[in-house]
Amino acid sequence: MSTVTALVSRSAIADNYRQMKKLAPKSKVLAVLKANAYGHGAVAMARELMRVNVDGLGVARLEEALELRAAGITSPILLLEGFAEQSDITRLITYQLETVIHSLEQITMLEQCQQQGRLKVWLKIDTGMNRLGLNSSEVVQAYQRLNQLEIVETPVNFMSHFACADELDNDFTARQIQAFFELVKEYDGQLSIANSAAILAWPDTHLDWVRTGISLYGCSAIEGKTGADFGLRPVMTLQTKVIAIKSITQGQYVGYGSTWQAKTDGKLAVIAVGYGDGYPRHAKTGTPVLINGKRYPIVGRVSMDMITVDLGQTSQVSCGDVVTLWGQGLPAEEIARWSDTISYEIMIKLTHRVEILFED
Ligand SMILES: *Cc1c(COP(=O)(O)O)cnc(C)c1O
Repeated sequence: MSTVTALVSRSAIADNYRQMKKLAPKSKVLAVLKANAYGHGAVAMARELMRVNVDGLGVARLEEALELRAAGITSPILLLEGFAEQSDITRLITYQLETVIHSLEQITMLEQCQQQGRLKVWLKIDTGMNRLGLNSSEVVQAYQRLNQLEIVETPVNFMSHFACADELDNDFTARQIQAFFELVKEYDGQLSIANSAAILAWPDTHLDWVRTGISLYGCSAIEGKTGADFGLRPVMTLQTKVIAIKSITQGQYVGYGSTWQAKTDGKLAVIAVGYGDGYPRHAKTGTPVLINGKRYPIVGRVSMDMITVDLGQTSQVSCGDVVTLWGQGLPAEEIARWSDTISYEIMIKLTHRVEILFED
């Protein structure tokens, strides 16, 4: 067994899926498993979601979809970034993958394709994020060209993506949904725009399909809240052990750069985790860890393999005790905030040193 382990709970992902269905009761739910299911293990998560009859799965890239198909996952799968090359189209059809169409170049590739078969497509419209998607002026042409293709299942479906859905007082979300409705009102296809933040905070945006990533893994997509506020459970709990207990006297420094100085005599725990495992190096002094159910602050810089924890004077911590870095009892959202990032990033950045242990 590895020193640092990510316990991943199958029942938690199933519960969170059901909870997201409850929060978007009129919509189908696309469970987003890109980037190895945000670091949780895509195949295992897909298997569990199949068991609870998931409506569909989303991945970013073709290779991620092929990995799921090779593992026997038969649920609908949507490629959120679409395909990149003409030769990809054959595989989309062979493996029954739905694809996003975000550019006129992709439509040209479909027009030139000699392949027989049926492809379910989602026309992605840029409604203000200015990342992936067709401009408003291209939508009519794109729709008409797709609609004429034998290979494309009709009606064509539509999607877009929010830039600011996590900010409750930002009216950009309302403007994006307005722009979306304006562009698709003539058409019959299914509609999808909501990510986790919009599922939690903007019920008017749910439409035919919602797409949830981070909340499926138990985290809030809304600033200042945690998954528990929305009835979600953390799926991943990251753990390590205490490898040394040390005494420190007032005035002594800790760690690289001597950035932390003890104000009083006390005890430190050295725990076996660092940025070499994916723990954020920029986690500030004060970031909590959980040992025997109690929170203690990390002090000094995070090193590659170790972190020091301030136990104060009266602690009951011993060598070998289990340390929770995030998950059950310590929301990943909180650790992300201490590290000036988001829960998505800290989970995805775990390295190969961390062993994922699946539990029920
Ligand atoms: C990743 C992704 C999602 C899921 O986003 P969350 O914030 O994790 O819910 C939804 N839609 C698209 C297009 C995505 O790429």
